[in-house]
Amino acid sequence: EISPKPLLYVDGVTVTFDGFRALNQLSLVIAPGEMRAIIGPNGAGKTTMMDVITGKTRPDTGTVSFNGDVDLTKLDEAAIAQLGIGRKFQKPTVFESHTVRDNLLLSLAGLRRPHKVLFARETVAERTRIDELLGLTKLGDAKDRLAGDLSHGQKQWLEIGMLLAQEPELLLVDEPVAGMTDAETEETAALLVEINKSHSVVVVEHDMSFVKALGVKVTVLHEGSVLAEGPLDQVQANERVIEVYLGR
Ligand code: ADP
Repeated sequence: EISPKPLLYVDGVTVTFDGFRALNQLSLVIAPGEMRAIIGPNGAGKTTMMDVITGKTRPDTGTVSFNGDVDLTKLDEAAIAQLGIGRKFQKPTVFESHTVRDNLLLSLAGLRRPHKVLFARETVAERTRIDELLGLTKLGDAKDRLAGDLSHGQKQWLEIGMLLAQEPELLLVDEPVAGMTDAETEETAALLVEINKSHSVVVVEHDMSFVKALGVKVTVLHEGSVLAEGPLDQVQANERVIEVYLGR
C-alpha cells in the first residue's frame, strides 16, 4: 500500500506543564481527505493536541507539519489559521443578536470588509456560497432567525458553517455533540460525513454512538500518547484500551 504524502504530520510532540507530561512523544498522521476520530479518557491530552496543532500551545519537542513542509510549531495561531486549519471549539460562539444569514456573511466576508459587512449587500458569489452553507447545515428555514434563538444543535451547525465559510482545508472539531439530543447527534454525524467529501477532518469526541456513525479510523490517546489506532470495533476490543476505560 502506497501512502500519500500526509496532510498533517504530528511527530514526536511532547508538552510539559509544571513537570507533568500532557503529551508524550505523540505522533499522528492524517492523510489528505481523511476524517479521523480521536477518543481517550479525560486528561489523555486530546485538547492539548488540538492546541499544539493550532499554535495555541508550543511543544517542548517535536514537529507538526501541514501539507508537507510547514512546521506549524514555528507559527502563531493566526498564521496557522491562514494556512487552512479551522478549529471548532466545544462551545458554540455565534453572534446571537444577528441572523443566521448575517453570521454566515460575516464569516464569509469579514476578512475582506470587516467594518461594513453587516450593512453592505453581499456579492452574488457570497450569496451562492451562503445558500450552499445553509443547505449543508440544514439551516435554510432558519436563515432569518436570530442565532441566539436557535437550538443548541443548530448553533453548533451554524458555527461549523461559519468555519467552512473561511475555506479551511482541515477542520478540527472539539466534542461537537456534547449536550445534543440523539437526533441532533445523528444529524451532526451525517453533516461531518458530508463535509468530509470536500475537507479533511479531525474530530475529538466521547460519544461512541457518534463515533460509530462516522465510520472512520479512530485514534485512542492515553497519557499523552497513542494507545491504539484502527477501526472502532477493533480498538474497542483492544485489551489495553478496555483497561484504560474501565480502570484496573
Ligand atoms: P483531554 O482533552 O484529553 O481531557 P487535556 O489535553 O485537556 O486532556 O489535558 C491533558 C493533561 O494536561 C491533564 O492532566 C490536564 O490537567 C493537563 N493540562 C492541560 N492543560 C494544562 C495547563 N494549561 N496547565 C497545567 N496542566 C494542564
